[in-house]
Amino acid sequence: MQKIACNFFGFRYCNGMTYVITEACIDVMDQSCVEVCPVDCIIAADHDRMCFVHPLDCIDCAACESACPVGAIFVESEVPRESAEFTGLNAQYFSEPETVRARVDALAE
Ligand code: SF4
Ligand code: SF4
Repeated sequence: MQKIACNFFGFRYCNGMTYVITEACIDVMDQSCVEVCPVDCIIAADHDRMCFVHPLDCIDCAACESACPVGAIFVESEVPRESAEFTGLNAQYFSEPETVRARVDALAE
């Protein structure tokens, strides 16, 4: 089944599982996950402070999870409660990157 995802006032809806990058990535960004992702769905711009997984392009292979040296990546159903906001932020980044960058800055303080 094709994945469908959308954001509505910060709430994210997706009909399939995906992987999520959380706050442990902030200012680490070694990009080990980018190197192992077979579909190039982990993205960061030069001025980003963390990477983000595109929820529709992710094929749930799990390769990134074990590659991350700081344990920042979780399958969506196992994202820790305290990191739950990052599920939405990963998806929102692809439509509203500046909003997400500002939120990451705030969370990093
Ligand atoms: S689970 Fe696989 S496809 Fe999804 S982001 Fe990680 S490496 Fe890429
Ligand atoms: S491997 Fe982990 S710390 Fe490195 S860029 Fe990916 S999510 Fe961030």
